[in-house]
Amino acid sequence: MARKTVVLFPGVGVGHLAPMLELAKAFLRHGGGAVDVAVAVVEPPVMGNGFAATVARTEAANASVAFHVLPPPPPASGGAGEPGAEQDPLAQMVRFLRATNAPLRDLLRSLPSVGALVLDMFCGDALDVAEELGVPAYFFFPSGAAGLAVFLALPARRASMSTSFAGLGASTVLSFPGAPPFKVSEMAEGVSDDGEACQAILRIAARMPDARGILINSFESLEPRAVRALRDGLCVPDRPTPPVYLVGPLVSPGGDKEHTCLQWLDAQPDRSVVFLCFGSMGAFPRSQLAEIAVGLERSGQRFLWVVRSPPSAGEPSDDDDLDALLPAGFLERTRDRGLAVRPWAPQADVLRHRAAGAFVTHCGWNSTLEGVAAGLPLLCWPLYAEQKMNRVRIVEDMRLGVGIAAAGDGAVSAEEVEAKVRWVMGDSDGARALRERATAARDSAAEAVVEGGPADVAFVEFLKDLLEASQDMHAQEL
Ligand code: UDP
Repeated sequence: MARKTVVLFPGVGVGHLAPMLELAKAFLRHGGGAVDVAVAVVEPPVMGNGFAATVARTEAANASVAFHVLPPPPPASGGAGEPGAEQDPLAQMVRFLRATNAPLRDLLRSLPSVGALVLDMFCGDALDVAEELGVPAYFFFPSGAAGLAVFLALPARRASMSTSFAGLGASTVLSFPGAPPFKVSEMAEGVSDDGEACQAILRIAARMPDARGILINSFESLEPRAVRALRDGLCVPDRPTPPVYLVGPLVSPGGDKEHTCLQWLDAQPDRSVVFLCFGSMGAFPRSQLAEIAVGLERSGQRFLWVVRSPPSAGEPSDDDDLDALLPAGFLERTRDRGLAVRPWAPQADVLRHRAAGAFVTHCGWNSTLEGVAAGLPLLCWPLYAEQKMNRVRIVEDMRLGVGIAAAGDGAVSAEEVEAKVRWVMGDSDGARALRERATAARDSAAEAVVEGGPADVAFVEFLKDLLEASQDMHAQEL
């Protein structure tokens, strides 16, 4: 059989590109010469933090994967900065990705024997391109099974209501098959208010069942209830759910040896360090940085903290000194037990280090999986995207973390930081039980990805379907 090119389209954002790259490696492991993998990348207009650097780094580290940087669509066609258009970043992003259909189509036409297109959840409009060119399309859902269960259910649920979700009131509790109950205020960003982002997401979610299959970055024992709901077709009420393939946890293998924070960790006792990191975009105002610093100092625990500059203009840039950002004397007073780095740490390596003891996370799905795979208890401090819902999943369903409580304005006090850090590192029955569950989840995560294990089996099934579909496509062409 002729080799097929599988094109992966991760959309924008580090958290979407990174797991797609791990998926690319799965193709290379299992493809047995039947597939070449190409990744179509497009420079995001509004979510640029670290993206170009990540693309360059991943490209250099993945010589067997062909990277194609698509030209950005002109603003007039819906790209960034369209005059008068809504400035909501999520709405802009989906509009931008939709406008990228034209360069994506050109790329697919230029590649030899394209066998399938694998789309990120936000790239649903590229189904038009797949349809036009007769290429089988799959989705890769980067936020786990319960995230997918809710995403697929949203369009029908909204259609059954006479108001937007926001119209129900922020504290109204919603219940979806496969997911723990969560409040309207904990829904993914952009989906509650019927604005442009909401319309775009509902449109994409409604089209997702058109795909031949959906790959999920998760494993069954982490989210059994969600997997059952998806397989039983409970999430999409009015039509069949495509086959779902649990191919995770696909997490970065790490491999950074150079970063100073790893050498610092080498000098710390086993499981003694609290690691704080808030994803590729998490940044706090200076006042919140100060509360974290005070809480960490008072907790008396060892810590490694990834600090990013406050988001607003006029504040120091990422080149500025940490001393200037944090309370006076904090770094000096904690130097024998704490390290702050900026703006990035090799998280996958840090989490797996024997000295890591707990993870204060913004609950991005990649961070969640990385923390789970490393066997660390999670302290959940969600910031954006679907992270508030992820916190509910982690705390209520997986029982692998506890929440950090925020005030009404979203701010977290030094007292709360101190209390939760002390608790998670402490010796109470609750903390010990949490650590035991985290260790058990780490073992299950490892079992999911052993050679010949469930993730491999799911991937091979998916690949079989893909190769069959692309053969049918070829037969039709003849
Ligand atoms: N990450 C990292 N170092 C940092 C911040 C983030 O290595 O200082 C990585 C992290 O390991 C994860 C990804 O960036 O793989 C962030 O993805 P996630 O889904 O957790 O959050 P997002 O950035 O999409 O909000």
